[in-house]
Amino acid sequence: MTLVMKFGGTSVGSAEAMRQTAEIIEKFKAEWGSTVVVASAMGSKPVKVTDLLLNGSKAALTGDMEEVNALLPKLRAIHFEAIDELIPAGEKRMALKEEINRFLSHFSNMCQAISFLREISPRASDAIGGMGEQMSIRILAAYMSERGTPAEPIDATELIVTDDNFTNATPLIDETNQQTNDRLLPLLEKGITPIVTGFIGATPDGITTTLGRGGSDYSGSIIGRAIQAKEVWIWTDVDGVMSTDPRIVPDAKTIPELTYLEVSELAFYGAQVLHPRAMRPVMQDGIPLRIKNTFNPESPGTVIVKKRDLKKGHIRAVTGIRQLSMISVEGRGMLGVHGVAARAFKSVAETEASILLISQSSSEQSICFVVPQSTSAAVVSKLDSEFSSEIKVRNIECIKADENVAILTIVGSGMRGIPGVSGRFLTALGDAEINVIAIAQGSSECSISVVVSEESVAKGIQSIHKMIMAQ
Ligand code: ADP
Ligand code: ASP
Ligand code: MG
Repeated sequence: MTLVMKFGGTSVGSAEAMRQTAEIIEKFKAEWGSTVVVASAMGSKPVKVTDLLLNGSKAALTGDMEEVNALLPKLRAIHFEAIDELIPAGEKRMALKEEINRFLSHFSNMCQAISFLREISPRASDAIGGMGEQMSIRILAAYMSERGTPAEPIDATELIVTDDNFTNATPLIDETNQQTNDRLLPLLEKGITPIVTGFIGATPDGITTTLGRGGSDYSGSIIGRAIQAKEVWIWTDVDGVMSTDPRIVPDAKTIPELTYLEVSELAFYGAQVLHPRAMRPVMQDGIPLRIKNTFNPESPGTVIVKKRDLKKGHIRAVTGIRQLSMISVEGRGMLGVHGVAARAFKSVAETEASILLISQSSSEQSICFVVPQSTSAAVVSKLDSEFSSEIKVRNIECIKADENVAILTIVGSGMRGIPGVSGRFLTALGDAEINVIAIAQGSSECSISVVVSEESVAKGIQSIHKMIMAQ
């Protein structure tokens, strides 16, 4: 039986964390027979290696090589400190440091090129961003071997084949399944634990891609499906999926069991604990996902499954997502204009902005949708040109962006078909004196979202969380 275990940035963020992670790997390898490990870049919060690397590339884009040169010793120190504590002085330690230095000089050379050209392609960004995982797995694997647990570091560029949508690539399932099995099964048969990079993959012709920020969870479940693992466990720094973000509500509670659908909604609407796409690969085959705490391994965590017993009307969790804009297309004449919604959404698609929520009044006099704030100017300008003739004859009176909005979402499959849930939700917001700008319910009836002003998010989450705890 194979268990896939993914360890997040904090779980490999220091020598101490790697020690804890190594103990977990050995314990569950002994229990399960074989394990595949997927690891993120080192990330002792708030300093994440991936952020440092990408910040370096952005600095290079402005020609600021001083910043890049200041980052190099920081990056070196993070990795070398861990190596010095974990690997005894000698040849192995030196070889490992040389490998890290090779990655860092590659990073520096790439930044130099970016700085010369004053241009960064998504492909270059992926090559740089993925180096954090390539460094961390080499340290973890060397340390595992040092402890007497045979382990081999593997770049997922050898396993996960993706399309060429750099910075947010999608795996090609058949090719990925084939390559992953071909590469990993012989190792597992020999009792070697593969330590695989999260976050990265490669196009069919071998160019490094990434699966989107936070994508190592997705890597874990892609590999879990490929080798038909019995379970996939995501090790992080909290006790599981909680009733809300514990940074906003410190007494948030761990939820023992959730469905794939519930967690997909939570992750899509901002709960950072899991990547929104991580559920997809394992959902079809019903492979359970478990979220566990590296620093409190005895806690049972959260298990994510296809179906669970539902308590009618129950809201399980609340989440929020900030830095959004609400775009409205309004006009009394819209009623008579053919296909406004289709044309509006097609225009948005052309800007590559993703729509997080849509709401349309039944009178067809307005369509509103929410996009990330960073994309709002491009969206409005695209809509202005698409509807220029309707604007001229005033069938459409205005296209506007309401900046600084946020989405609050409640999630729970038990809400389906139960009247009064949105009433309770809106009452809690009303009691907290929070104005609701728009409301939308997912067709799965597993989530209800409202648009509110950005500054009311924390207060909104706190008051809804109180209601959830009291139900
Ligand atoms: P990792 O590096 O292990 O992938 P992340 O930082 O990506 O960890 O995700 C874990 C963090 O997600 C937690 O530390 C917590 O602050 C945050 N978080 C946000 N919403 C939730 C939630 N509903 N349940 C648990 N954690 C959450
Ligand atoms: N290291 C990557 C990131 O910071 C992937 C991950 O941690 O999941 O986005
Ligand atoms: Mg994460």
